[in-house]
Amino acid sequence: MSTAKRLARYGWAAPYSLLGLAFGLLALLSGSTVRRAAGCLEIGGGGFGRLLRWLPAQLSFSAITFGHVILGVDHTTLAQLRGHEHVHVRQYERWGLLYIPAYLACSLLELLRGRNPYRDNYFERQAYGATTKSA
Ligand SMILES: [Zn+2]
Repeated sequence: MSTAKRLARYGWAAPYSLLGLAFGLLALLSGSTVRRAAGCLEIGGGGFGRLLRWLPAQLSFSAITFGHVILGVDHTTLAQLRGHEHVHVRQYERWGLLYIPAYLACSLLELLRGRNPYRDNYFERQAYGATTKSA
């Protein structure tokens, strides 16, 4: 991939990467650590990681991606989920600022259809499909 194309992808996802960095900064203040992997920052562990483990089941998640920043309960989990989360990174690169509104609209649509707003969400099905194919 050309440097210009790579910069465009980072730039297009940058607003959400900045949001991820803001959450990441808070996580780092709670004792989380940061690593660089496959062009992204992975932030895990510490008080932030413990907070994720305490979330009620309905709100529970192990990792979340904002642009090129991925936050998770710990670095082992982040490594295990890297394939899935990097599908979301590609989605941010494709959709830019529209990504989160589009993601939420898909969740709402699935909810209105009586389906699971997470598992049946188009973006999650794409991420799980890619993870399953590579496994
Ligand atoms: Zn996902």
